[in-house]
Amino acid sequence: MAWLTLSGSVPAPSLGAQREFTYSIGSRGAVEEEMASFAHKIAAIYADPRGWSLGGSVAFRAVTHGGDFTVWLATPDAMPSFGEDCSPQWDCRSGRNVIINEARWEKGSPKWPGALDDYRTMIVNHETGHWLGLDHATCPARGAPAPIMMQQSRGVDPCLPNPWPTRAERETVSRQLKITAQPAAARRFVVRRPGASLGTRRGKMMERSEPRMLMRTNKGE
Ligand SMILES: [Zn+2]
Repeated sequence: MAWLTLSGSVPAPSLGAQREFTYSIGSRGAVEEEMASFAHKIAAIYADPRGWSLGGSVAFRAVTHGGDFTVWLATPDAMPSFGEDCSPQWDCRSGRNVIINEARWEKGSPKWPGALDDYRTMIVNHETGHWLGLDHATCPARGAPAPIMMQQSRGVDPCLPNPWPTRAERETVSRQLKITAQPAAARRFVVRRPGASLGTRRGKMMERSEPRMLMRTNKGE
């Protein structure tokens, strides 16, 4: 077992978070991957508003030891040491451990038709979703983004590959944590509603580029 001491360059948790989880990073087995880059990718996934940060409502803070959970990078032969549900072939979650299989991290899955970087994001979000209490999901409709809790490593069809939690999954976790999720995308527009403020600009939308489509959509306000 090896712990990684994180440098100070990991993204800071959102200031507006309603809930904070702490996590540590570890490795098990003769891992060849550079652990600092693994830790940075994990931090980036957890800080992304599209992920389990739920738009910044949940902060994931890296700590050097322990924490609420540990994200491991483990060699295939070390996977079963985490529990009987952990096979040398796949990633897994066991108790407070989120375990990424180095073979999947390095090679992805032949059943997942997307970029390796997105695949890495997908498996981290999937196993962390288990830690957050979610079970497996199936494809809801042909052509829909695959739920993050679908076992996408084993095949995505007839859904589309998707590395982030769906809206329904975000809402489920929000309810479980009793928090309000923020939008997945950063808020770009400030809409001033009639009577809200600043007398002369009532009802006018303020935004740098003012896209026409959005202007039309909001014209009736
Ligand atoms: Zn799973």
